[in-house]
Amino acid sequence: MLTNRSKQVVKKEMTIMEKAYLPAIFSGMLITFKHIFMKKATVRYPEQVREFAPVYRGQHVLKRDEAGAERCTACGLCAVACPAEAITMVADERKKGEENLYREEKYASTYEINMLRCIFCGLCEEACPKEAIFLTDRIVPSTFERNEFVYGKDKLVEPIDQRVDVTKRQTPAVLEFKKDKKHKHNRTFLDKVLKPSNKH
Ligand code: SF4
Ligand code: SF4
Repeated sequence: MLTNRSKQVVKKEMTIMEKAYLPAIFSGMLITFKHIFMKKATVRYPEQVREFAPVYRGQHVLKRDEAGAERCTACGLCAVACPAEAITMVADERKKGEENLYREEKYASTYEINMLRCIFCGLCEEACPKEAIFLTDRIVPSTFERNEFVYGKDKLVEPIDQRVDVTKRQTPAVLEFKKDKKHKHNRTFLDKVLKPSNKH
């Protein structure tokens, strides 16, 4: 029994009042009337949007570094950490002359997240050693086609001229953790984050 509100159903003759149905109708209308003056539990979405928590976990972003190169090195740790097996990728080697495109010698030529499988747990973000993937406060838009929920790099990598701000997700505890010398490879980004004038 989940609640103590269950009632024993008894099959008995209806009284005259019950047969008239009017008291039951009025009592139902009274309940409806009372709710008119109560605080509404719903909002008129999408005209009205509720305030999100600063660490709300929505659509992912694959970040670029300060120079605009993709941070992801296709190490696969996010895919291993993902409990929903929503992430797949193909690793490739960076060629000479592509240093401005990819930060590391290895990069993801294909990177896909199946948003229907994803449970937005954030473990991929936690597992990433390169601060390449973050969840954001963006909502994955609905659509009627299942295959449109498989997001590739075209939807995941942030546009170079429209950076996605993830500084809100860098809580003081996270920043403290990243000061550890073991995470030195992320220093450049960390230094940027600590400067409030430059959020990317
Ligand atoms: S948020 Fe969780 S379920 Fe979604 S891709 Fe990342 S690890 Fe997988
Ligand atoms: S997003 Fe991070 S964890 Fe995932 S493959 Fe790229 S570098 Fe590795």
